[in-house]
Amino acid sequence: MSKKSLETITSQAGNHLDDNKAVALPLYFSSNYRHDSLEEAKQFNYHEGYTYSRVATPNRRALEKTMAELENGTEGFALSSGMAAIQLALSVLKTGDQLISLDDLYGGDFRYFRYLESHYNIQFDQWNGEKIADLIAKITPKTKIVWLETPSNPTMKELDIKEIATKVHEKNPQILVIVDNTFYSPIYQQPLTLGADVVVHSATKYLSGHNDLLGGILVCKDQALAEQYFDYYITTGDTLDSFDSWLLLRSLKTLSIRMKQHTKNAKKIVKYLQGEKSVSKVLYPGKGGMVSFYLKDKQDVEKILNNVKVITFAESLGGIESLITIPYYQTHADVEEEQRKRLGITPTLLRLSVGLEDANDLIEDIKQALK
Ligand SMILES: *Cc1c(COP(=O)(O)O)cnc(C)c1O
Repeated sequence: MSKKSLETITSQAGNHLDDNKAVALPLYFSSNYRHDSLEEAKQFNYHEGYTYSRVATPNRRALEKTMAELENGTEGFALSSGMAAIQLALSVLKTGDQLISLDDLYGGDFRYFRYLESHYNIQFDQWNGEKIADLIAKITPKTKIVWLETPSNPTMKELDIKEIATKVHEKNPQILVIVDNTFYSPIYQQPLTLGADVVVHSATKYLSGHNDLLGGILVCKDQALAEQYFDYYITTGDTLDSFDSWLLLRSLKTLSIRMKQHTKNAKKIVKYLQGEKSVSKVLYPGKGGMVSFYLKDKQDVEKILNNVKVITFAESLGGIESLITIPYYQTHADVEEEQRKRLGITPTLLRLSVGLEDANDLIEDIKQALK
């Protein structure tokens, strides 16, 4: 059979796996699994069977297989948060290695990169996302990872993953190009297909889509790299439990339809915001549900955050309900002031995660808040 489409993979996520032939994969609550004999225990294959839930559970494995298929990789890993997935991705670094990242990333990444710099002497350099030649010029024999996020958060700039991965690998095929694909999800972007080596997600966001769990996903292509990650993963144990794996797999079934509706709604809101006299600039990459916008007046920022009734003033994104945040004081509060200024993360920039409510209700909500 030819490669299945994303809609078919998501709709049937986890199906046809249960020994009792259940259509929807049942939830397995057990921390351990029995061996049939000493011989079976001696020959046990950790990639197939089950022994202990830190290593694998049927629900987590079904999720990991589905994510590997959606992201066009060989192995998937489900972890207890997006940051845990990011930590796993970076676990290949050794003291003295260099890490180059985009300068416009999820705020928590910088905290962790700085930690690696101060505790493990990782050389950390940043690239402004403009000329690929500038990125290539930063590469040294010590460069191990190039870290990207696109569209960027919160300024929604898109990168050409294919072009970047090609140029980086031309310089040194050993360098891992790692992409955080949280904002677009595999429905809109498959970094591994575009030449990246590893893709990570905060599954807390679009993959889950319901603001009811915390999770992370890592998918990679290379089998030897997958083995290295597997050893670290089962040893450190930041694994996603069966219940959250079950919930996440259930959420994936509607991922494609949700993403399309997020885009439809976001486009309507962008159109309104572009014509709204209090708004000076709208940042939207053309797809997905994330929209950032600048207000002309600080007082209007306060009005919106204090008065929205349909939209919720809360951190996070990617759920069925619309959320609004102020990155300057929330998600990006730890980014140095100088850097925030350069990136345009100001106290008048708001970031809206457009949910699946009626777009007109969302527009009316912003209008009434601004009154
Ligand atoms: C939220 C987020 C993370 C961190 O994920 P958690 O699940 O909160 O640990 C990483 N990257 C991006 C782009 C995010 O939005």
